[in-house]
Amino acid sequence: SSGDGDSGGETYTVATDNNFVPFEFLDEETGEMEGFDMDLIRAIADEAGFNVKIEAMKFDGVVTGMQQGKYDIGIAGMTITEERAETIDFSDPYYDAGLMLAVHSDNTDIESEDDLAGKTVATRSGTTSETYLQDNHPDAEVETFPGIVEAYMDLQAGRVDAVMYDVPNVQYYVANDSEEELKTVGGILQGEQYGIAFPQDSEIVDDVNEALATLIENGGYDDVYEEWFGE
Ligand code: GLN
Repeated sequence: SSGDGDSGGETYTVATDNNFVPFEFLDEETGEMEGFDMDLIRAIADEAGFNVKIEAMKFDGVVTGMQQGKYDIGIAGMTITEERAETIDFSDPYYDAGLMLAVHSDNTDIESEDDLAGKTVATRSGTTSETYLQDNHPDAEVETFPGIVEAYMDLQAGRVDAVMYDVPNVQYYVANDSEEELKTVGGILQGEQYGIAFPQDSEIVDDVNEALATLIENGGYDDVYEEWFGE
């Protein structure tokens, strides 16, 4: 697709999440997928000398697609977990994340995860938040959605009591997209790191790691970080 630079090398298909601000989302004006991950993978491709063809889908489709070897690369704010690493190869970590709670701005009875018993907590299916809730909060009622925006909208509408999701996504959505109807509560619940995904035994993992290391060293990574997370 257009905008995915042509550096003369191979073209790799890149699976991404269709909506995970600010890492990947559709820019309505340009019709392109934009965000931190999109800029990062384009910079890596330029550095390593390949082209990318971006394909956006639901997050769980990225995970299963990589397991089935349907795409060359997956970049989707995907947390490196031991379980996923059994069926997917990961690059070196490229972003420190974690999990956090959001509630309605009017809410006064949920101040941390200690207050979730008997509450309805929304999150997205097939994610580390779903697993975290199942493992740590059996007395909360967990509602899962294919897209995280649906969970936030239910929270704004008062249909659920809280949303648990990735720190950078919760913070970004609350600050920019929630019309001040939501707030974050508590601290970081579980430290996580994002990695770029590959089908098992992919031959391009080393090239991608090398390009990532170069960008971290030469400031290219910082430029992308500044663009999406700078003040
Ligand atoms: N980091 C979360 C996970 O890997 C979800 C990321 C996302 O929604 N794109 O489970």
